[in-house]
Amino acid sequence: MLKIALAGNANCGKTTLFNALTGSNQFVGNWPGVTVERKTGILKKHPEVVIDDLPGIYSLSPYSLEEVVSRKYLIEQRPDVIVNVLDGTNLERNLYLTLQLMETGIPMICAVNMMDLLKKQGKKINLKKLAYMLGVPVVGISALKKTNLDKLITLMQHEPAAYEFPQYDDRLESALAMIGEQLTGIVPADSVRFYAIKFFEKDERIWQQIELDASRKAKITELIQMAEKIFDDECESIIANVRYDYLARIIDMCVIDKDDFAMTLSDYVDLVVTNRILALPIFVLVMWAVYYLSIQTLGTMGTDWVNDVLFGKYIPDTAESLLNSWQVASWMKSLIIDGIIGGVGSVLGFLPQIAVLFLCLGILEDCGYIARVAFVMDRIFHKFNLSGKSFIPLLISTGCGVPGVMSTRTIESEKDRKMTIMLTTFMPCSAKLTIIGLIAGTFFKGKSWVAPSAYFIGMIAVVCSGIFLKKTRLFAGPTQPFVMELPAYHLPKVSNVLRYSYERSIAFVKKAGTIIFASVVMIWFLSTFNYKMQIVPQSQSVLKTIGSIFVPLFKPLGFGDWHACAAIFAGLIAKENCISTIQVTFGNPSTHVFNQLMVSHFSNFGAYAFLVFNMLCAPCFAAIGAMNKEFGDYRWTLRAVTYQTVVAYLFALLIYQSSLIIGGHYTWLNVLAVIFVLLISLYALVLKKPKTEFDGQQAQVMEEGI
Ligand code: GDP
Ligand code: MG
Repeated sequence: MLKIALAGNANCGKTTLFNALTGSNQFVGNWPGVTVERKTGILKKHPEVVIDDLPGIYSLSPYSLEEVVSRKYLIEQRPDVIVNVLDGTNLERNLYLTLQLMETGIPMICAVNMMDLLKKQGKKINLKKLAYMLGVPVVGISALKKTNLDKLITLMQHEPAAYEFPQYDDRLESALAMIGEQLTGIVPADSVRFYAIKFFEKDERIWQQIELDASRKAKITELIQMAEKIFDDECESIIANVRYDYLARIIDMCVIDKDDFAMTLSDYVDLVVTNRILALPIFVLVMWAVYYLSIQTLGTMGTDWVNDVLFGKYIPDTAESLLNSWQVASWMKSLIIDGIIGGVGSVLGFLPQIAVLFLCLGILEDCGYIARVAFVMDRIFHKFNLSGKSFIPLLISTGCGVPGVMSTRTIESEKDRKMTIMLTTFMPCSAKLTIIGLIAGTFFKGKSWVAPSAYFIGMIAVVCSGIFLKKTRLFAGPTQPFVMELPAYHLPKVSNVLRYSYERSIAFVKKAGTIIFASVVMIWFLSTFNYKMQIVPQSQSVLKTIGSIFVPLFKPLGFGDWHACAAIFAGLIAKENCISTIQVTFGNPSTHVFNQLMVSHFSNFGAYAFLVFNMLCAPCFAAIGAMNKEFGDYRWTLRAVTYQTVVAYLFALLIYQSSLIIGGHYTWLNVLAVIFVLLISLYALVLKKPKTEFDGQQAQVMEEGI
């Protein structure tokens, strides 16, 4: 007698196959003890072969009665052969069960059904490859059309050879092997693998059914906890993930889907949007439009109103009359009106611009364009040996660097991950947007290239740094492939887009009410008092003294001015502070006077260099903290922050000095500075350092790069 079990998902065609194989020689009963239908039959013309039609199941986990019954039957009755019926049009989902059936170790044949349908759909499955990859015989059939059934019958009669268990992640395999050791002698030898996995998955029924002594249980629990820590995941999803990974490889190798080549409207759009030549210009154009709307036009109207009317008149006027009626001391009045209202107000003024920016980005994200950008950037990144995976953190960092840094966790290669952590805060986050808005609005009225240029300078800094860093020993290594699915374009959902923009805006307001509030109070104190705690004009304040120390350092960049230097350091607490500090240290003037003051203190390109420096230099403390957490080593954090600041300095230097030369006001010193920066860039980007010259001392590599 040869006992054969037909197993497969619901609707894969088991019953059709069963009927075709058994003809009329069948009887229907119930599984012992339960009322799930059980069909047993004799193979036509082969009375020695008994076939059982198992209920349709998706897994061998005890989620449903059918699954419990099926696995009990497979493990306790152990049929001689499992014929796993698969719906070929839905191979991946069906194979998920196959892997679990294979974990029982029972000899198996895969019958890929619906081959007729598959043909109609224009899909092809490489059955030979599938058989090779699974290690079990595979036959393509059509139960309905009764094609190839004789081949299946022949296979059934020659009991298939034993196969190897699907091998998953090494770390998981060693945990399973150790759990298996605890089970030897307790469960049947040929089911150890099955039970080890079930124990690992914390399958309650199995834990209850198999009686283990306390010490073995403790040992197994410990092994599971260890694996959960290693994978940073729960036991059940660890198993599910390794199975899906395993299947993804198989599907990738075995299924050729003509559907993939059928053109949809989305595909036609992509023909243009992701076109090798057009993709980048389109992206630039889109980002320009986004910034044009948010910084130049729509957002600016809101910002002007908030600055000139709300925080320029209503709030300070109301506060002033209130404070006057309470007869508050004049220094207190100055703190509240010039410090807090002026400082926080100058930051909140950018709220409309930020709301519009994220409204635009939300629309781009929701309609599927951002995914294309990632795809296009991956192509560009790859040219320079960078992984496209690094691009996702960059995108997230356009909101805020903290989640951007944290999102690098999806990058498997440790070197690429570290590099991405180091570069991701080059992107303009919503806080830096206030600086962009200020500089673009004050110095470059009507010049719509300025705001988006900040975005692209961030990106250029990332790509150039990537090219350079990849050549250093710290980061050299193969590039990880980046696989992503491009969702079809669709109309953005209003609620999604609004929520996206709302969340960003609220976070911005909250920050203004907390960190920025506290900072402006501090800045006000520092810029109002001298060391003897006397109220003095700002030009004699503590802040001026501190800021002035750094003036020579930033003079070559075009902003050797104590207001700007103080702003840079306040910006470390939060980048919005750059704006509020300048506002407070200028004595909270009206918008008109503020603009005049700015223009008298900075040249256009000095201001632009200030913008670029703040964009690229060390991020705020919150982001530095996130970097430190992800690096797990303060030396790396130090290295990253130093690198960022040096890059910022060089970029700003190049921009300001070049502007002087182009403007015709220059000395040989300016030319020298530009040549100096260009030579360093050339050295970093073009020249390939022979590896031997790096002696492995990491700090030295950094120095050389700088
Ligand atoms: P079960 O749930 O696994 O028992 O699946 P059934 O045998 O009930 O089949 C489900 C559906 O798939 C039925 O409508 C069958 O007619 C259809 N079907 C089964 N095998 C094939 C096949 O080889 N080709 C096509 N085109 N349809 C099939
Ligand atoms: Mg059925």
